[in-house]
Amino acid sequence: MSEKTLTFEVVTPVRKVLSKEITSLIVPAIEGYLGVLPNHAPLICGLEPGVVKYKEGNAYKKLAISGGFLEVSHNKATIIANAAELPEDIDVARAKAAKERAEKRLKQRTPDIDLARAEAALKRAMARLKVANDS
Ligand code: ATP
Repeated sequence: MSEKTLTFEVVTPVRKVLSKEITSLIVPAIEGYLGVLPNHAPLICGLEPGVVKYKEGNAYKKLAISGGFLEVSHNKATIIANAAELPEDIDVARAKAAKERAEKRLKQRTPDIDLARAEAALKRAMARLKVANDS
């Protein structure tokens, strides 16, 4: 029989951020946003730093991830990320400071600046601000 929910877990090297039964999930995959419903075919894909949205019962919820991987198998979706934060975990002042720092580096574009690193830092900060609803 086909299931109406799937298990959703988010783990980082230091903690389990989330473990829930949900009805749908949208992740920022490297090739674009990807939706996952119950009974989805097995997959593994890379994730960009960004916002993950999921539906729990009738409520839409979100969390920020620093990039990572999504694995879907046996009606379970697992995100493995270096960092992941729920809305209540987010320090808005810290994310704003990180965003400003990254923007400044991207404007300077001097040879010592690692652009890819600054771009990734900017994406992480913007995702955190979106999830905290304070962008
Ligand atoms: P910063 O420059 O402020 O350290 P960052 O993007 O470099 O930001 P990460 O390396 O992605 O930070 O994360 C390091 C740790 O700090 C992770 O555990 C992450 O969850 C946490 N973290 C980073 N920024 C925030 C924030 N604004 N609010 C809450 N936790 C944060």
